[in-house]
Amino acid sequence: LLLAYEPARRLARLQVNLERAVVNARMIYEILDMQSHQRDKPDAKPLKVSEARIEFRDVAFSYGDNEQTLKGLSFVAEGGKTTALVGPSGAGKSTVITLVPRFYDPAAGSILIDGQDIADVTKQSLRQHIAYVSQQPYLFEGTIRDNIRYGRPDASDAEIEEAARLAYAHDFILAQPQGYDTPVGENGVTLSGGQRQRLSIARALVRNAPILLLDEATSALDTESEAAVQKALDEAMTGRTVVVIAHRLSTIIGADKIIVMQDGMVVEEGTHESLAQHPGGLYARLNNLQGNASAGETVED
Ligand code: ADP
Ligand code: MG
Repeated sequence: LLLAYEPARRLARLQVNLERAVVNARMIYEILDMQSHQRDKPDAKPLKVSEARIEFRDVAFSYGDNEQTLKGLSFVAEGGKTTALVGPSGAGKSTVITLVPRFYDPAAGSILIDGQDIADVTKQSLRQHIAYVSQQPYLFEGTIRDNIRYGRPDASDAEIEEAARLAYAHDFILAQPQGYDTPVGENGVTLSGGQRQRLSIARALVRNAPILLLDEATSALDTESEAAVQKALDEAMTGRTVVVIAHRLSTIIGADKIIVMQDGMVVEEGTHESLAQHPGGLYARLNNLQGNASAGETVED
């Protein structure tokens, strides 16, 4: 009986932690706190996803002080395409991304996925369709395998390994003392920033969700691990609706659409080619200020 009970208990623990797995360390306590008072509407329905098209309509948001972080922001992230958010540090890019899984709710305006207001659907069904790689990947107490499994508690070992291979994590995992069973976190091995990031990408990949949110922060990584992380991200983006925050313009040159943000507003949108040719525009200025995108200079921080 004990043996039969154990997997279910482990699964339940993973389910509880799943909420935390998709948020960054900075936000963890705030999110758990918010869950107590941010409930589903009584008539909330499950989200039905077809194209996974995301639309922000006049979204305003503030963290509670009098400063408005987002000031009536509208854009569309087309289904199956990659939309990049760029702009100076503090523009509100990370905030935009955290509104999609409803870690926070807008003060005004609405966010729709395939025409359904996400405020009207169950949070569980919403988050089921979303994978999120945060700016500061978080590792939990447990093994490397456990840490990837947070992405989907019922993933098989084979699926976990497949995700790790796609995330260019498999090789460094095998090089750890106990491979996939190596403990990480406080009492485990110390992983580099690049390795943590790749585990976080593997976690997102094993989720196999149609919407992928990438808050990309590769500035701390050495060139080699950054290249590996970028390859992993490219794998993860294929065929999904992606909203990506670019740390380097070079990584989003190929995006289907670029949204340029400043002070909580959209100031420009277009492709790299069209925006770079707009001499007075913010994107062109960022592009010029920092050499040019292909030189791989950073956009923020
Ligand atoms: P970006 O990702 O473009 O750098 P952010 O979305 O992180 O911008 O932040 C936008 C603004 O909101 C900044 O002024 C930032 O200080 C503020 N902010 C971000 N997160 C929080 C938070 N958890 N609590 C209060 N203010 C926050
Ligand atoms: Mg940010």
